[in-house]
Amino acid sequence: MPAQEFDGDRARAILGTQPDFRDGPPDNPIARGLPAGSVTDDTMQCVLVAELLVDGAGVIAPRALADALMRWEREMARRGRSELLGPSTRRALAALKLGYDPLVTGTAGTTNGAAMRIAPVGIATPLERLLAAVVDADRVTHDTPIAHAGAAVVATVVSAGVDGAGFSEAAPLAIEAASHFGFGELFEDAMGKGSLGTGVEAAESVPTAFSIASRWPKDAWAASGYAAALGGDTDTIAAMAGAMVGACTGLSALPANAVRKVKEVNELAFESLVDRLLALRSR
Ligand SMILES: [Mg+2]
Repeated sequence: MPAQEFDGDRARAILGTQPDFRDGPPDNPIARGLPAGSVTDDTMQCVLVAELLVDGAGVIAPRALADALMRWEREMARRGRSELLGPSTRRALAALKLGYDPLVTGTAGTTNGAAMRIAPVGIATPLERLLAAVVDADRVTHDTPIAHAGAAVVATVVSAGVDGAGFSEAAPLAIEAASHFGFGELFEDAMGKGSLGTGVEAAESVPTAFSIASRWPKDAWAASGYAAALGGDTDTIAAMAGAMVGACTGLSALPANAVRKVKEVNELAFESLVDRLLALRSR
């Protein structure tokens, strides 16, 4: 949260040699005023998607997602945080307000907004039904092959992790999922590389998150700390890397202090939501 949009040097200076939650610095236009441990738009939209999945018995209707995102946008504007919207979501919501069908509003969305909010779909959906569920969750804002590939990678690792796979078992399944949309090689080449760019484009930030997960396959906290110190779209890269590794290691592998802090600062009750998502896997 505090390092987003800064460069790597500034990000490292903020986070310290032992990266940890920090307050949003006053000169960060997105993060200023936020207390250490605050979640960002990635988590807010994950919760939004999770609630839609629960309400829709595992299915996300385009109109329901469009309405939920428009409500979220109004809530962010009310709280003076309109800058949280990414470029594809902003464009899609503008088209929706003009009356366009939610099936056509995402056709230019190539950024990481679909991948950043997809983890709940991976929790709620077994692998054999996953790709269709990913496309349903992306379409309104990010209906492009690269955005679907990025979201499919994150969702596949999460779903395989929930089934008990480690990251090394989940990664080839994720690459195969990306190849359905023409981007298998992008993710195969990313394994072990580190940063492939920190921009909001799905083609940069999602392979970077996948690569970071491949380097810290058993430590979501370390993967997230490394991602956060890269600068750029750090909150989103760390959210995606953390979701992938965390699904493969389970809650008990996360530092208890950090988990407690996130729950307290954000007043989020993840466990009950996750239980309801898990119940949808066997529907
Ligand atoms: Mg971000």
